[in-house]
Amino acid sequence: MVLKQVLLGFKYLFKRPYTRMYPYKEKAYITSKTRARHILRMDLCVGCRACQLACPADAIKMYKIEGDFPKNRLKIFPGIDYSRCTYCGLCVEACPTNALVMTNYTMEHLITEDKSTTLYTPQMLSIPPEGEYEITLSKDTWHPPPQPPPKKSK
Ligand code: SF4
Ligand code: SF4
Repeated sequence: MVLKQVLLGFKYLFKRPYTRMYPYKEKAYITSKTRARHILRMDLCVGCRACQLACPADAIKMYKIEGDFPKNRLKIFPGIDYSRCTYCGLCVEACPTNALVMTNYTMEHLITEDKSTTLYTPQMLSIPPEGEYEITLSKDTWHPPPQPPPKKSK
């Protein structure tokens, strides 16, 4: 077993590293499963904060927005700081009303060293991205990641 791994490592010793020179030389690698920019349906959001509580990166903050939102008594909605977001999708999983979904729109314009430009307010999230995209993660399509097989007892 160990010998097999050593041989495998030896094989790659003479190969050049494969690094995608994104965004400088290559485009983003986009598939129908890529998780990227969110879309918020403010008319469906009930302001429960479940997305904020589920976020492991502390990327979501709630904002009070005035307006006619009969389902959202407190009128609070999530905004996402994309300088913190890891695109894990846990916020989408936690949302009880399917108000938050993810698309494969990769937001290359957010590649920046200026973190003040990476904050998306609820209103910004509610406007679908310009250009082509697919909804790649919503409550209906959420599946937990595969778990490793249970260890055999000795
Ligand atoms: S995708 Fe993950 S890291 Fe990004 S806002 Fe949602 S829960 Fe937070
Ligand atoms: S987006 Fe979903 S989880 Fe987040 S506050 Fe609104 S209803 Fe709750």
